[in-house]
Amino acid sequence: MQIGIGALCRKEIDKGTPLGMKIKDIVEQAKILDIETVRQMIEPVLEEAVAHNRQFVVDGYPKTWNSFNFLTEFLAAKNIEVVCINMFADDDVCIERIASRFECHQCARTYNKNGIQPQVQGLCDTCNEPLSQRKGDDSETVRFRMKQYHENAEPITNALRERYPCIDVDTSKWPVDYCEQFLDSLVRVHK
Ligand SMILES: [Zn+2]
Repeated sequence: MQIGIGALCRKEIDKGTPLGMKIKDIVEQAKILDIETVRQMIEPVLEEAVAHNRQFVVDGYPKTWNSFNFLTEFLAAKNIEVVCINMFADDDVCIERIASRFECHQCARTYNKNGIQPQVQGLCDTCNEPLSQRKGDDSETVRFRMKQYHENAEPITNALRERYPCIDVDTSKWPVDYCEQFLDSLVRVHK
């Protein structure tokens, strides 16, 4: 199963819970989620995955040292085997992709004007809901987010790399081109 912080946030905001309202406030003020808020959101999902013995992918997390400490301690306490997958691409490729991305509000499935498109234009294949661009996905905001990423997240990626086996995947090409290479590396790491 896939655990994405962005999707968890949006789900919580949609539910309108006190936690959701708090997250909405933080997101709208472009502040970084504090460790306690993230813990309240992600811990039950992680606990459930572990309880059901499910393999899971934590997507786009951790991005701060607080969340790095929380996640690595959690994984160590549960004795979970971890592989770090570092998917990267040139900044210009990332900016172009994010700016042409559309998402289903219902199931968070994403499509891309230049890549995987829905069968019916503007509607999600899974739930038939209208697709829209995420707030903050315009190219100017994306450029700013990329800068923040390089400053904040790269040192964390390096720390994960020191701790766990790591697979680097150059995603500058489209999935069909790098999938085979990625699966090969995954098999090798597990040997
Ligand atoms: Zn959908």
